[in-house]
Amino acid sequence: MELIKALCKVKLSLNQESVANVCEELADVEVMLNQMKLIFPGATCELKRKVEKLEVKLITKKCNLCGENPVSSMLKINEKLIGVCEKCCKKEVDKEQRKYKKTEVKQDGH
Ligand SMILES: [Zn+2]
Repeated sequence: MELIKALCKVKLSLNQESVANVCEELADVEVMLNQMKLIFPGATCELKRKVEKLEVKLITKKCNLCGENPVSSMLKINEKLIGVCEKCCKKEVDKEQRKYKKTEVKQDGH
C-alpha cells in the first residue's frame, strides 16, 4: 500500500526522489512476496506460468509507438497501458518530465 502511495507521488511529480521512493517500496513488496511464496509454494508455479505468458507477449509484440523495435517496457500514456520499446520509453518519460516542468512554471507565475 506504501507502493501505491509512492506511485501516486510519481504521477504527481516525476523526479529522482519520487522514483527512488517507488524503487524502495518495490523492494519492500518483493521481499514480502518472497516470504509469501515460501508460505504458499503453489503461488510460485502460478507466477512462473503467468510470467512466461507475458514474456511471450512482450517478445512477439512490436512497439506501439514506432512499430519497429520489440517491446521492452510498459508505459502509461493517456491512462492506457501500452507496450513500448526502450527508445520510445525514454522519449515519453522526457516528454512527461517536460510537461511537469511546464505546469510548475505556470503555477509559479500566479
Ligand atoms: Zn518504439
